Amino acid sequence: MKRLEVNNIKKTYHTRLGGTSVDALKEITFSVEPGEYVAIMGESGSGKSTLLNLLATLDQPTSGSIKLNGQDLNQVKEQDAAIFRRNHLGFVFQDFNLLDNFSVKDNIFLPLVLAKKPLVEMEKRLDALAPKLGLVELLEKYPYEISGGQQQRVAAARAIITEPELILADEPTGALDSKTSAQLLALFQQLNQEGQTILMVTHSTVAASHANRVLFIKDGQVFNQLYRGNQTNEQ
Ligand code: ADP
Ligand code: ADP
Repeated sequence: MKRLEVNNIKKTYHTRLGGTSVDALKEITFSVEPGEYVAIMGESGSGKSTLLNLLATLDQPTSGSIKLNGQDLNQVKEQDAAIFRRNHLGFVFQDFNLLDNFSVKDNIFLPLVLAKKPLVEMEKRLDALAPKLGLVELLEKYPYEISGGQQQRVAAARAIITEPELILADEPTGALDSKTSAQLLALFQQLNQEGQTILMVTHSTVAASHANRVLFIKDGQVFNQLYRGNQTNEQ
C-alpha cells in the first residue's frame, strides 16, 4: 500500500512543573493517497506543528499510529529515524537552512551525499532537476549571493532530489514575497502534476487554494475538509 495513514493519533504534552498537560492532538484520522496535494490549515495553537513533527518522525504520538506505505512510523527506532527520513521524506521549511559555506550545488547534493549515492547518480539527478527550477545559472553560487526566492528554490531542490515519497512543507511561503511565493506554488503544482505527493501546513489561503484538499484543524481535531471543486465534508 502506498499511502500515508494517520490513524486516531493523540498527542499529550506534559509539563514538568505543575503537572499540567496539554492535549495538542485529539483523535486525528486522515489519509493521503499517492499523488495527492493536501494543505493543512488552522489557527496558531491548533496543533499543526505537533502534527508535522509526528509525520516527520521527530516526535512520537501518545497513542494511535502513522503509517507510510504500510510501515508504522512508531516502529522506526530512534537511531533509524534519520535514515528513514532521508529515504522517504522531503522537507521544505519556512527557513531554508542552507549552508552558507557550501555552493548551491553542494547544498542540493547534501542529502544524496548522506545517502551515499554515487557522484554519477547525483549529477544525473541534478541535470534533470536544475532546469525545471531555474537553477542552472546558480549552481556555483553561494546562498548569500542569491535572492530569497532563489534560496527557497534551492531548498525545494534539496528536498526533492532524493525523490521522496512524501514532501512535508511547513509554511513554505511564509518567508516569501508574493512573487517568489507564486513561483514556489507553481513549482509545487508542477511536482504534484508529475505525481509527487505533498502535504503542506500553511496560514495562506492563496497557498492552500493550490492543494486538491484542505484539512482544517482546530483544538487538535480535524473539523472540516474542503475538496477542490467545493465539496465539503463535515466531520
Ligand atoms: P500550531 O502549530 O497550530 O500553532 P502547536 O502544535 O504548536 O500548534 O501547538 C498545539 C498546542 O500544544 C498548543 O496549545 C501549544 O501550546 C501546545 N504545545 C506545542 N508544543 C508543546 C510542547 N513541546 N510542550 C507543551 N505544549 C506544547
Ligand atoms: P508555529 O509558528 O509553527 O505555530 P509555535 O510558535 O506554535 O510554532 O511553536 C514553536 C515551537 O515551540 C514548536 O517546536 C512547538 O512544539 C514549541 N512549543 C509551542 N508551544 C509550546 C509550549 N506551550 N511549551 C513548550 N513548547 C512549545
